Amino acid sequence: MNGFTFNTTPSILHEAGGTERLASLCREHGARSALVITDRGIVGAGLLGAAERSFADSDVAVDWFTRVEADPPDTTVRAAAEQALAAGADIIIGFGGGSSMDVAKVVALLASGDCRQSLEELYGVGSAQGKRLPLIQVPTTAGTGSEVTPIAIITTGETTKSGIVSPLLLPDIALLDPALTLGLPPHVTAATGIDAMVHAIEAYTSKIRKNPVSDALAREALQLLSNNIVTAVHQGDNLEARSAMLLGALQAGQAFANAPVAAVHALAYPLGGHFHIPHGLSNSLVLPQVLRFNEPAAATLYDELAPLVGGPEPTGDLIHRMESLIGAVELPRRLRDMDIGEDVLPTLAADAMKQQRLLVNNPREVSEADALAIYREAY
Ligand SMILES: [Zn+2]
Repeated sequence: MNGFTFNTTPSILHEAGGTERLASLCREHGARSALVITDRGIVGAGLLGAAERSFADSDVAVDWFTRVEADPPDTTVRAAAEQALAAGADIIIGFGGGSSMDVAKVVALLASGDCRQSLEELYGVGSAQGKRLPLIQVPTTAGTGSEVTPIAIITTGETTKSGIVSPLLLPDIALLDPALTLGLPPHVTAATGIDAMVHAIEAYTSKIRKNPVSDALAREALQLLSNNIVTAVHQGDNLEARSAMLLGALQAGQAFANAPVAAVHALAYPLGGHFHIPHGLSNSLVLPQVLRFNEPAAATLYDELAPLVGGPEPTGDLIHRMESLIGAVELPRRLRDMDIGEDVLPTLAADAMKQQRLLVNNPREVSEADALAIYREAY
């Protein structure tokens, strides 16, 4: 066995209705003033009720930043950090999907009293220094696993996404409350759930930092997610299925935080950058084609995973099983269904090559010509 390291969020609380405990968790961390970072969709869906009640009953002050958008730009991060400083926040709470949680991570760094770095200086692997404010993450989708990863993805410029990767971004507490996910629309449940499954698959086949702890989590995650995603999509109010999805997404997040994702994500990011296709759907659209490309290098690992993937049609190899799950949750299957012109595929392939941080983890080397061929196959 090769040596490895494994890091994760130190405290995980998984409990239906657990959001009612948010203020007391802040108190336990010695906090007096919290900033909750979220988006208008969460506000509109009435998901903040339990959190509001929790703070109303406590002596912890709370302020709300509700303007996070999908693919959050650097301007949003700066605005939230300014609000945190103005409010004197001493704890940051990310409340939402990956976008809100990613913004919260960076704000916890920028709004800490002793941050001497600008946002620009944080980009890259291991660039962040110093301390951050305590950080609680409350995911409202079962997908990104951002509550247990040391990564934040921020949109810089028109179409480019930049990553901040640092152990400093690993949150202190992940609060998983499946009650918050009961009203998640079917297409969001489907896309985010497939994204979580991609995290598990790519962690398991990661070329560089594959390790036995990530492997165990990836296997368990794939089983939980594939056996519950169809129910969660078609019976959104099924608390058992929602609980399993949140746990599966967390485990897949723990896996890929330590054995990073690869070409599926590298080819998915340009779809988000150019066409604002949600992250999970972007992954789903290129997943079968990337798996097929990787098969010569990853066949043994795919064979190990295939029997774990349940769902309505649990037969055949990993690629077949994943394709049938994508069909069962009724996600679009082709790039041409997404209003993408075929002429843009070379641009997407060139952009995918910029994701070397991810491509180095892929079990098979991907050239720009390979990327273009994969997009053409997915078109
Ligand atoms: Zn992802």
